[in-house]
Amino acid sequence: MKGFEYLQKQLEEMKSEGTFRQLIPLESAQGSRVTIRGKEVIQLSSNNYLGLTSHTRMKKSAEEAVREYGAGTGSVRTIAGTLKMHENFENKLAEFKHTEAALVFQSGFTTNQGVLSSILTNEDVVISDELNHASIIDGIRLTKAARKVYKHVNMESLEQALKESMDYRTRLVVTDGVFSMDGNIAPLPEIVELAEKYDALIMVDDAHASGVLGENGRGTVNHFGLDGRVHIQVGTLSKAIGVLGGYVASTQTLKDYLIHKGRPFLFSTSHPPAVTAACDTAIDVLLEEPELIDKLWENTKYFKKGLETLGFDIGISETPITPVMIGDDGLAHKFSDQLFEEGVFAQGITFPTVQRGKARVRTIVTAEHSREELSEALSAFEKAGKKLGILS
Ligand SMILES: *Cc1c(COP(=O)(O)O)cnc(C)c1O
Repeated sequence: MKGFEYLQKQLEEMKSEGTFRQLIPLESAQGSRVTIRGKEVIQLSSNNYLGLTSHTRMKKSAEEAVREYGAGTGSVRTIAGTLKMHENFENKLAEFKHTEAALVFQSGFTTNQGVLSSILTNEDVVISDELNHASIIDGIRLTKAARKVYKHVNMESLEQALKESMDYRTRLVVTDGVFSMDGNIAPLPEIVELAEKYDALIMVDDAHASGVLGENGRGTVNHFGLDGRVHIQVGTLSKAIGVLGGYVASTQTLKDYLIHKGRPFLFSTSHPPAVTAACDTAIDVLLEEPELIDKLWENTKYFKKGLETLGFDIGISETPITPVMIGDDGLAHKFSDQLFEEGVFAQGITFPTVQRGKARVRTIVTAEHSREELSEALSAFEKAGKKLGILS
């Protein structure tokens, strides 16, 4: 069919650059080992930090919810699709996050879109870290607010932007809690200090910190002892929590407002019972099985040390996200392919997800990995690295 030649042309360019990628279907459940193209490999590319996607208690509560409440909800939350379990879960989440209220969206992506697009007008300004997640960038695109971008985690740059913003009604500083490509943690104590000095609000997106940082995985705000000083905490239920969804934890006022104005919340159907029931159980697991988070961090330390000892450049990460910096886009994908040959699944990440020249293979260990699996993975990195001349 005619009509998409200009798209086809761009795809051809990607193919000649070596950046065209096929989707890679898993032929098994998500886990520390997965089957891909008939081969069992060690999974190092998932966000399943705590192994909750297939935790026995999670599966059990999802199954029970399907049996009792069915496969779907049949409506958006604001018409006929709010189940009692949705409300119970939000209350539990708010208590867990030490906030007044919480509201669940269909995904972390739509949470950022819905929150940013609805709370800001042309009287306001949003001040955003340059490496914030795509969903924050898109949320900002949907507002009529003025925009300022500050240099990545650079507090002089943030302060400058705040100084230039004093004429607006509201200044909203937005940052990822943990940056998803480099694994570094936002300097929240400094951000809070500046925001308080310039009378600004703060929104933190804890997608990669929920279930990972803070007491029982409460996130970066709790990690830094800043409970009550960050106005809006966004997070995902799709990474460490192991299911699907996003949430905003904040005041009752913001929750009530978003129920009326948060467009993805208003115009997209609510989560199926199995999703909400499993998310609810995930909070219990975080509270009752803290050893999972301990194991995640032990594995993280072991794996980072191993990669470093082999001679890889692992960037500036402070979290389980560990990039192996490669540089060239094509080489990053080749390295990933070679790792697969050696029995490890670790995806190359290239432009436009990261800057040109900063291509990498990004790894995330989980609490599910055994020491043997991680040691096997390190051998694979060594072999593949030597084969491609990344290691001498
Ligand atoms: C993954 C991610 C999201 C999106 O979350 P989903 O629940 O997968 O839609 C939002 N923000 C950040 C920082 C993320 O890493």
